[in-house]
This record gives sequence, C-alpha cells and structure tokens, in this order.
Amino acid sequence: MAWFKKVRKPIESANKESRVPEGLWVKCPSCSQIIYNKDLASTLSVCAKCAHHFRVSAAERLRSLYDGEWEEFDTGLASVDPLQFTDTKPYRTRLKTSTEATGMKDAVICARGMVGGVDTVVAAMEYGFIGGSMGVVVGEKITRAIERAIDARLPVIIVSCSGGARMMEGALSLMQMAKISAALARLDRARLPYISILTDPTTGGVTASFAMLGDVNIAEPKALIGFAGPRVIEQTIRQTLPEGFQRSEFLLEHGMLDMVVDRRELKDVVVRVLKFGLPAPREQQAAVAAPLGA
Ligand SMILES: [Zn+2]
Repeated sequence: MAWFKKVRKPIESANKESRVPEGLWVKCPSCSQIIYNKDLASTLSVCAKCAHHFRVSAAERLRSLYDGEWEEFDTGLASVDPLQFTDTKPYRTRLKTSTEATGMKDAVICARGMVGGVDTVVAAMEYGFIGGSMGVVVGEKITRAIERAIDARLPVIIVSCSGGARMMEGALSLMQMAKISAALARLDRARLPYISILTDPTTGGVTASFAMLGDVNIAEPKALIGFAGPRVIEQTIRQTLPEGFQRSEFLLEHGMLDMVVDRRELKDVVVRVLKFGLPAPREQQAAVAAPLGA
C-alpha cells in the first residue's frame, strides 16, 4: 500500500469545461442565431444562416483580400493632437485608449501585397479606432499609399469603414478630403484603377470624398452609407425618408453604387475588376516611357 495516493479531481476538470471564455459564442444581431466564433472566422464573419455581415477589423480585412503576406507602410505615424482638443474626455486620452484597444496608432492600415496575383496597394480603415474617423494621420497615410501606387504603377483599393472626419482635429481633418481626392485624381491621370469598397458604416466626410470616387464602387450588403444621418436630413427637407434609405441596396438601385457584393465573394469580384481595369503590360510600358520621350 502506498503512503501517498494521487487524488483524482474530476470535479475540477468538469468545472473547467463548463467555463466558457467570453466571446466564444456570438449571437447574430439579425437572426439571433448563436454562432461559434471559430465558424465565424471561416465564413469571413458573415452569418451562415442570414448572411448578416459582422464588422471586421482592418487586419482581418487585409487578410481576406491579400493572397498571403503584405508589407505595411507608415506604421509610425501618430496624431499629435494639434488643437489640444477636449470634449467629454481629452482627445489624447481617446488616442491612448484606442491604441491600447486596437494595437494601432491610427484608424487605417496601408499596405502592399498580392491580390489574386495582382500587386496592389490596399488601405483598410479600422472602426475600432475612434469610429474609423479620418484625421490628419489617416489622410496622410492614405495619400502616401496612393502616391506609392502611382510611383510603382499599382492599382489601389480603399476599404472604408468610418464615421467620417475626426471632429477632434477640426478643419485639419476636413482638409484630408481634398488631399486624398487630389491624390486620387493623380492616380486617375496615371491611368491606374482605384476600387472603393464601402462597408458598414461609411458616412460623413469619407463618403463625401474618396469612398465615392472609385472607378468601381463596391459595397457590402446592407451597409449604412450616407453623408448626414437620417434624422438630420428629415429635419432639413421636412419629409419622411423612404424605407431602407442609406443602405447599400437602396443606393445601388438609385445609381450611387456599381455593385453590392457578399463578403464571401468579394475577393473574386475585386480580382476580376483589378484584371479588367489594369492597363495591358505594353500600354503600361508606353505610359512610363511617354514622359521621357516628350
Ligand atoms: Zn444571422
């Protein structure tokens, strides 16, 4: 007989099993289906039952578009709070908490990599960082990304997910609308394609500038896309707005968008558009050679 006996602890292990970590299951806000989080990852965060599109982070977005690795640009840029702005809390505090929550320095990731075998620059906005708002850093990063694309003769994709211009940077944030639009005009003159992908939500100054300037504007289903909110519009025009106003399908019907594409098919569609929009290799060489010959 042994002096010591290993005591089994079946109760403890049972306890461990029943303790479900937070966020392992997600309830679909549209059809109330309970979805296992890992299943959601395999469907690109789209509900398998009702096709509700959950919001995804900028990094997840890049993962869903790029074939593999990507090279990220301007990771060090951060806002300096030029107006020393304070509303319910100081802007600096908001920046700090957003950085801690997302691991990013501002609300966009700009990168270069292969999309369906096509070398492409992609800028994806992060809603988790102060509502994906466009401040000086977002404007500068997107502009630089477009300029890099012009230099290397690459197509550009911008995935919008934003509440609009960043109020805490006042007029400086509004100037980014013009800055990015001007860079896109140069991209257009260089005869390079720009695909705008509008996701839920795309509003304010982002809609009013680069999100609507794509050679092809593609939206995700049922995404909220608009400039001002419905309440403000109703008060201004003194009319009741129609059903489904400011949703992708409504905008497509009224000619504001080119396509509404399910996220699970988005990459295939984007690759097709890229290959359609890119100049043929010979034409591309001619475009590069032209300024020298002139
Ligand atoms: Zn659902």
